[in-house]
Amino acid sequence: MYKIIILFTSFCISVFALQIKQLPIKFGEKRVELTKEYIKAHYNLDVKDIKIIPRIIVIHHTAIDDFKDSISRFTSQTLPTDRPDISNGGSVNVSTHFMVERDGTINQLMPLDYMGRHVIGLNYNSIGIENVGGQNSKDNLTDAQLKSNIELIEELKKKFKTIEYVIGHYEYRCFEGSALWLELDDNYRTKKDDPAPRFMKELRSNIKGFKIAPCTQGHK
Ligand SMILES: [Zn+2]
Repeated sequence: MYKIIILFTSFCISVFALQIKQLPIKFGEKRVELTKEYIKAHYNLDVKDIKIIPRIIVIHHTAIDDFKDSISRFTSQTLPTDRPDISNGGSVNVSTHFMVERDGTINQLMPLDYMGRHVIGLNYNSIGIENVGGQNSKDNLTDAQLKSNIELIEELKKKFKTIEYVIGHYEYRCFEGSALWLELDDNYRTKKDDPAPRFMKELRSNIKGFKIAPCTQGHK
């Protein structure tokens, strides 16, 4: 009987455990050093490593409907030359911790405790989840992506008790002036519309225990 219970328990764990594919982007010494430079330049912090304590989950869309094309934006360790919008902010390439494909497949791209460059002001406090889609600002993220985001967020909340917020990238400026906002350069901002507010609304109606972005200063 004891063996049967053990077998049944391990069966349940394997059935219900969240499937996360490991698809590491290159995050070698060069990217780590460039990330440290970013942390010094933007947050004025002298750090020995690039480890973060996550307090915010930031949801994105890639603005590209193809998975391979989306991933290709993150693979280089240095920022591609076609990003003049953020090139003055440093040469470390952009990255997020996860990328969710249109069929809901979740890929982990980098260590969860490393800082990625994905959201001005909040990189040092946040985990980023990209969703493939949103090309030409279309509201086209899928139900499968929604389900995977919900499950992934619940998994992250279990793993990191420090996480308080789940926000859409378009809400990042709501944190300006808060203790979590670290950016020193008042002129370093980008206008973001990802993901669609409809996606965030549906996401929020399916997750519990998180604060919403403190949008009290009129930023959107
Ligand atoms: Zn984004």
